Amino acid sequence: MKEDDSVEALLDHEVGHFLFHPYCLERVIREGQAMKNKENGETARQFYDDINNNLRIIASKNTTKIPEVYKAMKPESNVEKAILLFYQNQTGLDFGMENPEDNLKIAADKMQE
Ligand SMILES: [Zn+2]
Repeated sequence: MKEDDSVEALLDHEVGHFLFHPYCLERVIREGQAMKNKENGETARQFYDDINNNLRIIASKNTTKIPEVYKAMKPESNVEKAILLFYQNQTGLDFGMENPEDNLKIAADKMQE
């Protein structure tokens, strides 16, 4: 993957936080309050913000390089695999996950262990 494409995807993502999600400080504070005292609450909030943001960027800008960046990265955890499968399922784009239906079931089963 070209370095320029990675930089462009990173810029899309960071600007997306201002344009799409969470886009205002009030939302960040409310999400933080909702997840306060929850196990892994801050991590879950960050995943929620990034997933929501990326899906909105992909829906609004079909030239974004975000899918290529994720495709170039090798997911290490089951959470990362599940997120890529979710992106692939929601967008119909290739995020590098093969056999999405089988892998989604395996990732979901392992997260419940
Ligand atoms: Zn982010």
